[in-house]
Amino acid sequence: MPMAEPHSPGAAGPADGSPLPAIPAHARVVVVGAGQAGLSVAHHLAHGGLAPGQDLVVLDRSPAAGGAWQFRWESLRLGTAHRVNDLPGMRELGLSFETADQGRAARDVVGEYYAEYERHFGLAVFRPVAVTSVREAARGAPRSGSLRIDYLRGVGDDATRGTVIADVLVNATGTWGAPIRPYIPGIETFRGRQLSTPEYRSAAEFRGQRVIVVGGGTSAVGFVLELEGIAASTTWVTRRPVAFASDEPGEASASIEGRLAAVAQQNDAARAGRVLPSIISGTGLPATARNLGAARRGVLVARPPFTSIEPGGVRFADGSFEPADVIIWATGFRSELGHLDTLGLREPGGGVAATEGRAVRNPRVFLAGYGPQASTIGANRAGRLVALQVLEALS
Ligand code: FAD
Repeated sequence: MPMAEPHSPGAAGPADGSPLPAIPAHARVVVVGAGQAGLSVAHHLAHGGLAPGQDLVVLDRSPAAGGAWQFRWESLRLGTAHRVNDLPGMRELGLSFETADQGRAARDVVGEYYAEYERHFGLAVFRPVAVTSVREAARGAPRSGSLRIDYLRGVGDDATRGTVIADVLVNATGTWGAPIRPYIPGIETFRGRQLSTPEYRSAAEFRGQRVIVVGGGTSAVGFVLELEGIAASTTWVTRRPVAFASDEPGEASASIEGRLAAVAQQNDAARAGRVLPSIISGTGLPATARNLGAARRGVLVARPPFTSIEPGGVRFADGSFEPADVIIWATGFRSELGHLDTLGLREPGGGVAATEGRAVRNPRVFLAGYGPQASTIGANRAGRLVALQVLEALS
């Protein structure tokens, strides 16, 4: 099938300069975020009879289709450590991430496929539109119990404010905009460059530099491997000892049990409204030939955490000092929920309690892609689960 222009601007930004379509002032459901989770929910809701662009309004802050994938670094490929599940109904378009060109940048493939998906199913995503707050609508709104969703449309000085009143909100804002950077004594004194995963572009930026990569997940591993032979030195630091887990029969139990346990922990935390734990600590890292080879070469060998940061490098608990020009923090993400603070959903533990994707403190608010759903397969499941509950709530 013919492939549409990469990174189509979607409903909110016609390339020919024609006026932007108006965002309805009232809707039954507003979905915030058009990544895997938001698109999956929107697809099921449209299938359930809601008219996209009218009953169902999808608002996305990103400039183009692709959710967070559009911002990932160029060298990230589908099919290496990364596996992106197809969106529900995607095969109807003759598209599948499984058969996509694995040699192309994941950000381009995912951006193009999502754009095609939005067009095919007429999901009418408005972008770039950033939701700034959600609150209970004042009395006199169309129906009591409505939600008022305030947004900023466009970027920079041209951005305009607007409001949609809706019966139900589905929040699918992912985590990309909320990287975690732990506080280590002396962090503010470091003279070199510090960056988090979303700011990483390519290894070439760090040619000849001494780099510390912090984090035990797939992103940190990817950075360490890419920097080999380019950076002057790379030191990999993880909070816990690293386990490479295999999915091969006979060796599977540790990784599958770990994965299930990690998902269960996230589920428990989401139900209780605690801050969500790291998923990678339970899953281990994939025992691919590339990872095992790098471990044997001494490249992928983790050091325990450093205890302080000094202007010229980092100091470990045993007193040793590692000089550094750069610290890359690949230390995970939080759910991006700041725009919901006006709804008072947080528990004393700091998290938002949700059961099956429904906020405990407000049954008209749903969270898709939250906690254990924060993967492309989890987001797909969330899509169906949340959409069913939303349709029930509306009826
Ligand atoms: P996102 O893709 O982040 O989409 C959220 C959307 O919401 C974005 O477009 C954003 O602009 C928008 N948004 C945010 N805030 C607002 C707001 N206030 N107003 C309006 N819009 C807003 N998972 C896998 O299954 N396989 C992988 O290979 C994989 N690789 C990964 C690699 C990295 C480096 C990272 C960080 C994660 C990876 N994941 C992977 C997990 C990933 O989070 C999921 O794959 C999935 O893409 C998340 O989808 P999402 O829809 O929840 O969020």
